[in-house]
Amino acid sequence: MVLVFAEQNNGTFKKATFEAVNYAAKVAQQSGTEVCALVLGEATDVAVLGNYGAAKVVHIADARLNNLEARAYAKAIAIVATQQDAQVLVFSNNNTAKAIAPRVAARLKAGLVAGAIAIPDTANGFVVKKSVFSGKAFAYVKINSAIKVISIIPNSIGVVKSEGSSAVSVQQIDFTDHDFAVKFVSVNKVQGIVPLGEAELVVSGGRGLKGPENWGILENLAGSIGATLACSRPVADSHWRPHHEHVGQTGGTIRPDLYIAVGISGAIQHLAGVNSSKTIVVINKDAEAPFFKSADYGVLGDAFEIVPKLTAAFLKYKAAQHA
Ligand SMILES: Cc1cc2nc3c(=O)[nH]c(=O)nc-3n(C[C@H](O)[C@H](O)[C@H](O)COP(=O)(O)OP(=O)(O)OC[C@H]3O[C@@H](n4cnc5c(N)ncnc54)[C@H](O)[C@@H]3O)c2cc1C
Repeated sequence: MVLVFAEQNNGTFKKATFEAVNYAAKVAQQSGTEVCALVLGEATDVAVLGNYGAAKVVHIADARLNNLEARAYAKAIAIVATQQDAQVLVFSNNNTAKAIAPRVAARLKAGLVAGAIAIPDTANGFVVKKSVFSGKAFAYVKINSAIKVISIIPNSIGVVKSEGSSAVSVQQIDFTDHDFAVKFVSVNKVQGIVPLGEAELVVSGGRGLKGPENWGILENLAGSIGATLACSRPVADSHWRPHHEHVGQTGGTIRPDLYIAVGISGAIQHLAGVNSSKTIVVINKDAEAPFFKSADYGVLGDAFEIVPKLTAAFLKYKAAQHA
């Protein structure tokens, strides 16, 4: 059995969860087994996971698990993995997985590879491909333990929906106070936008924008295509933009389909977080800006002239599509 942790957010599932289920289904197919998806916390329509390859769903609908409680999550996942005789466990590589996958691996005495970007090669053992050195190289890591834990980087294999269905069983776990030794007190979520880690389209600004008062042109550009905003580190450090928008070595690592970098020089530390983007567009007025070397498309010129024109072009294109 392959067990996939199907993370819920406010009771529903995000694209990255469906991708993890798809990934688990491909791993299961290789070894002629099935996928069991595990949902922790209250959630609606957990059977939808069948559309992405889960043959069964185990739902522990305990309200204490609605937010990430790392110890309790790890305990529940390890118990269900043992009950289901799971040989492989799959997580989506996000902050939740960073907190719980190593705990689960330790409980199950399993080998862990964090950050897989492809289906494991099982021709000769169990070899997982991951990117290393800020996306500059690939590593192939062989897991030799009986139980294997993998977390997959979102946007690595894409999401495919099918007609499949899954049998749902609701289960309970006996937790102790010790399992909740560290507790979430409250959560403030950014509302109304696709979170950066899941965004397919990202518009990002750097120091070339001169100050926070100029972010309107980037907001308009992002709004015209439904993109999420990001920024370079000095922009967040100067409090021009919130820290959750900071990408790079010390910020978020993203893999959107489109990354538009405006007024960002392309320092190695910035590239570390974004150079796995599928298409990179760089707008910079300095022809020597290092970012042009990593760009699929480069626009040489003043952002304050180019960005409004690009926004107008996107809006015109969209209007023509709907005419
Ligand atoms: C340990 C360490 C970790 C770091 N981690 C990160 C990280 O995670 N993320 C990160 O981003 N940085 C990180 N940095 C900082 C990094 O080295 C760079 O200093 C930073 O990325 C530069 O930000 P920037 O490109 O916005 O600014 P700048 O380097 O100042 O570049 C501004 C760019 O805007 C262009 N420009 C100016 N005016 C215009 C205009 N009108 N129109 C168009 N273009 C214009 C300029 O030509 C220039 O290329 C880290 C540094 C260290 C030492």
